[in-house]
Amino acid sequence: MKSNIKDKLQKIDKEYYSLLIDIGKVSKDQGLKSYLVGGMIRDLLLNFDNLDIDIVVEDNAKQLADAIVKKFSNCELAARHDRFHTAKIIFNIDGKKIPIDLASTREEIYEHSAALPTVKVSDLKKDLYRRDFTINALAVSILPEDFGDVVDLFNGLIDLKEKKIKVLHELSFIDDPTRMIRAIRFACKLGFTIEENTQRLLKEAVESKQFDNLIEKIRGDRVKIEIRYLFNLPDIESAVKAFFDSGIYRMLSTDLNPRRDVVCNVSTGDNTSRQWLIHLALIIKDLNPEKQEKILKNLQMTGEEIKIIKDGFSAFNRLKEKEPVDSIEIYRELKNLSIESTLIVKLLPNTQDLIRNTLFDEYIEKTSKIKLEITGQDLITMGVKEGKRVGEILDKVLEMKIKNTQMNKNDEVAEAKKLI
Ligand code: ATP
Repeated sequence: MKSNIKDKLQKIDKEYYSLLIDIGKVSKDQGLKSYLVGGMIRDLLLNFDNLDIDIVVEDNAKQLADAIVKKFSNCELAARHDRFHTAKIIFNIDGKKIPIDLASTREEIYEHSAALPTVKVSDLKKDLYRRDFTINALAVSILPEDFGDVVDLFNGLIDLKEKKIKVLHELSFIDDPTRMIRAIRFACKLGFTIEENTQRLLKEAVESKQFDNLIEKIRGDRVKIEIRYLFNLPDIESAVKAFFDSGIYRMLSTDLNPRRDVVCNVSTGDNTSRQWLIHLALIIKDLNPEKQEKILKNLQMTGEEIKIIKDGFSAFNRLKEKEPVDSIEIYRELKNLSIESTLIVKLLPNTQDLIRNTLFDEYIEKTSKIKLEITGQDLITMGVKEGKRVGEILDKVLEMKIKNTQMNKNDEVAEAKKLI
């Protein structure tokens, strides 16, 4: 039966809807067929917000991008990758930037397992067939004559209804093992189950051991992107559990310890968008530093990301030696750390003793938020020479304020004067 979701598209932001109509018209003028694809369709049908517009063009995205940019003065070409047959355009609507990704319909040919595929321009069917799961392989026409018509070649609509994650073909995980991480991500995120045959294929792929220590063999940043999505999910417990129970963790390193009772029961709250770094740290915590380093390097982590994890480990090791007894001592150890590093220290298992945990919570909730009213400039006005000493005095006054949170600006000035 033919499905049409024009009514759902009409409910997205007005500007976005008008853009889809406009792009559809230009597409028709150019004699090209264009379709919305990917996560936006899936989420629209599930009534979730998702305004990431991905359009595939049968078969020339470059031609469509050029025609749109020519027609609309408020649209610019932000990028074009002729090799991948993709383009990014950005509309500027009253100061609001709306990016749109365009890609020619393509097929992917995998020369061997886990390799980067060769990409060849093709038709819509092959473009949808290269996708990961049936629920992500739906397309919706944006041409004026059939705007909103759903192209459902692989029964994605039924799987959406039945809440199933299902691959499109038997070799899917072999072609691209990062899809295994995506499978558990979508299952956790959407509350779906992995369909039986797909589960079998996933199990077989893991048990074949061909993807053990995968990040040593393929571009690790592809795995990193998927790990980041997975460990940033709000339901982190399910995500970590699925990561270990499925055996997918072996892609990072077969040395990881699948005992996950400790790392699962943690909640980082929503005070960080880099939750994934904390969980990655907790997962690699038992490995020796060389092995930790190797995983981070193979995942192609940035210097900043590595620093966050390493800072957490170093502060934890320093604190292990000591028995901190008050907020000031904790403050001194943690004051230069990011919130993520601080949470790594707090969540590492040896710090589960009560006094320390209370001190950590107090540090995160209260102490780290205490700020001085006086500034370095105030001290300079008071006669302190610019330089290191300014920071030292501010730090001492801040420690006093941590002990006595009632201090106001006058008290801070008085204490600073005593130190000058
Ligand atoms: P989300 O918005 O939650 O990230 P998404 O489905 O938009 O979900 P993306 O990673 O942005 O996820 O991918 C966009 C689309 O590209 C997917 O819906 C899927 O069709 C396709 N895709 C992405 N990664 C793969 C992959 N590894 N193998 C096959 N298809 C993929």
